[in-house]
Amino acid sequence: MSAQRLVDLAPEFGTRVLRDVSMAKHTSWHVGGPADLFFTPRDAMDLAAFMRQLPPEVPLLWVGLGSNLLVRDGGIRGAVISTHGALGALERLNATRIQAEAGVPCARIARQCVKWGLGPAEFFAGIPGTLGGALAMNAGAWGAETWPHVVEVDVLDRRGARHTRQAADYEIGYRSVKGPADEWFIGARLEFERKPGVNTEAIRALLDKRRQTQPIGEWSCGSVFTNPPGDHAARLIESAGLKGFRIGDASVSEKHANFIINHGAARAADIEAVIRHVQSTVAQVHGIALTTEVRIVGVPA
Ligand SMILES: Cc1cc2nc3c(=O)[nH]c(=O)nc-3n(C[C@H](O)[C@H](O)[C@H](O)COP(=O)(O)OP(=O)(O)OC[C@H]3O[C@@H](n4cnc5c(N)ncnc54)[C@H](O)[C@@H]3O)c2cc1C
Repeated sequence: MSAQRLVDLAPEFGTRVLRDVSMAKHTSWHVGGPADLFFTPRDAMDLAAFMRQLPPEVPLLWVGLGSNLLVRDGGIRGAVISTHGALGALERLNATRIQAEAGVPCARIARQCVKWGLGPAEFFAGIPGTLGGALAMNAGAWGAETWPHVVEVDVLDRRGARHTRQAADYEIGYRSVKGPADEWFIGARLEFERKPGVNTEAIRALLDKRRQTQPIGEWSCGSVFTNPPGDHAARLIESAGLKGFRIGDASVSEKHANFIINHGAARAADIEAVIRHVQSTVAQVHGIALTTEVRIVGVPA
């Protein structure tokens, strides 16, 4: 089905549905070709209505802040749903429980929990994505992870029906979340502890520490590979002599070997070629198969 036909199918969504939107504007690597359709809902009900209209054969990709996504240069066939800037409600439900929609940036959850005297949520400050992305990835930092705090999630299925699921309905691992197929997160209730002494100084200290060891401010997707059991991907990559390895405008960071930097004009194909080279070199040198943490989507140019 053509993108124009999809737009024609859903005129009531007005300019919230856009055609041929460059995904480079919606990913922290700043690469990626156009999405056929790009939908930014008004709210969860609007999103459910859109899902009901979308023919089942149209491929669907949900994105938050695109901080863990490599979109190939040919772009995305089908529809992209953007939760960031849309599903943005965040509230406290009781002494220790909060509720957030999927588009809320993790950093905002960290700051707001400090204001509420709740923790440990400071780790969210180091994750430059949305809650939806953190739920999909079981994002974590500084020894903490998203899912130990999850009580329930609200999801939409492919036909736009809303369900509430318990944390126990999901199989959670390191950067891995397995749950019911063809459902996407629209929000969650998270449990923390009362931490009256917590303040933004704790967040600042963690972010300072991060700035010392990671190329923060450069275009990246954070850690590209998951750490294999008992080891660190960064150590394996560095000891294979790959720091600074470059293809086009993409290179392995000199500061942190598990980061790949777009220096400004990289294409997704350059980044993917660096990823494949790192994987094959580490396999040759160490006999270890690195697995990507970043999600690679879309079609080549
Ligand atoms: C500088 C930097 C540092 C980083 N540091 C860390 C770190 O310390 N720890 C860490 O875990 N990650 C880190 N990351 C990676 C990234 O921020 C996390 O994986 C984050 O959770 C991704 O959120 P997002 O909203 O950007 O998701 P996106 O990149 O937009 O999407 C990631 C995946 O989640 C899916 N998804 C997004 N929203 C939803 C939804 N609502 N429902 C279902 N699926 C959805 C997407 O389809 C995709 O498969 C870092 C990234 C950068 C750029």
